[in-house]
This record gives sequence, C-alpha cells and structure tokens, in this order.
Amino acid sequence: MPSDKLRVLAVGAHPDDLENACAGTLAKFARAGHHVIMCYVCKGDAASYELTPEEIAALRAQEAKEAADVIGAELIAGLGLGDSQVYVNEANTLLFIDLIRRTKPDLIITHNPEDYLQDHMNTSRLVFEASLFSSTANIKSQYPAHPVIPPIYYMEPYGSLNFQPTEYVDITDVIAIKREMLSKHRSQLDFMKRHYGDDMLERMEAVARFRGIQANVRYAEGFIPMLRWPRVMTKRLLP
Ligand SMILES: [Zn+2]
Repeated sequence: MPSDKLRVLAVGAHPDDLENACAGTLAKFARAGHHVIMCYVCKGDAASYELTPEEIAALRAQEAKEAADVIGAELIAGLGLGDSQVYVNEANTLLFIDLIRRTKPDLIITHNPEDYLQDHMNTSRLVFEASLFSSTANIKSQYPAHPVIPPIYYMEPYGSLNFQPTEYVDITDVIAIKREMLSKHRSQLDFMKRHYGDDMLERMEAVARFRGIQANVRYAEGFIPMLRWPRVMTKRLLP
C-alpha cells in the first residue's frame, strides 16, 4: 500500500506533453509534499523549422528542466529515443520497465491510449505493459523488480477528442503555475503556432475552463483511471 506521501510518475512522450495535460495536478501533488517525477520519452528532436535535431533536443531539454523546476519535480530527460521512434517492441518495453523499477511509483499518469500521435499512443501502451512486468523478477533489466503494480491514470489527449474524463482535479488555485510551466516551452509555443496554427497557452486554458465547467469549478483537469486488473484501487489517489 502507498504511504501517505506518494511517488507520482508522470510519463509524456515529448517535452511539454505533461505541461499541456496534467501540470496542474502535478503542481498540486508537489505542493502537498508528494514526490513528483516528470519523464519525457523522446528527445523532442523533430519539432523545429530552424534548428538541427541536436540543437532543438538540447533546447527542449533546457525548457523541460525549467518547467520541472517550477514545482520542484524530479526530471527524467528522455529515454534515448528520437521523435517518432516509440515502437512497442521488446527493447522499448525494457526501457519502460526500468523507468518504473528505478522510480518506484505509487501511481502513474500518462497518455490516453487514443491520441493524435503514435509516440503518445505507444507510450501509453508501453506504460501499460511495463506497469505489470516491472514487478516480475524473472524479467531481467538494469534494475531489480519493483513489487508494486501501480494504478494508471490517462490524461487529456491533445485536442481532447474522444475523451470523457471520469475523475477531475480542481486546478483553479494552480492554473497560473500550469501556465508558467507550459510557457517555459518557448520553442514549442512558436512551432505549434507555425506548424498547426495552435496557440498552446490559449488551448490549454480553454480545455481547463471546459473541464472546470463540467466539474463546477473554474479550472480543472480530467482523467480516466485505467480499469484493468490488478491496478484498480478503492481509494482516490488524485488530489
Ligand atoms: Zn507529444
């Protein structure tokens, strides 16, 4: 059973995914004294018009560090994969098993199984697979087995399509912190606007307001708990 201080592992495919979808919840976890670990899987080396893959990856690592520092979260800066390289295979499953074994989470927040990018959907799938096999000692990896099989919460997909939350977190008192964290991703504020016509900050606040309307608060984040045995819990873990 988890202690009253939780180890919260949030896994996004790219730097900025967590800041878009669940940074308010992470800020509330951190404020309550829980240990928050923010991990992004890919280097973020694709999303630039001007910079080389190496240059944009280095810049995005810096932006992710600045965002994690806003709430004092531990940052795991990539699992060594490039953008578009998150495949569900044995090697990547072991990467995720080791991520869970070394961070020992009581719960995991990650992408919804349906989202707009393969990297997101496969990250979700790999977390799902690894959350169980990380407990199995006969599967050998760099780190020893972690006995806890953590529950998983799926976060809002980009664009919010086909996603109906069943749990909500009131982020009204931390919306400014979420905005600050997302604002650290300066390269992506520019890239998303140029590539998709998407204003990340405006969209994030619109989604938070819409989920807030659903939950009768000003701003909220929505989640769907992953209901697959044996990761179901009787108590609410979200703040
Ligand atoms: Zn992403």
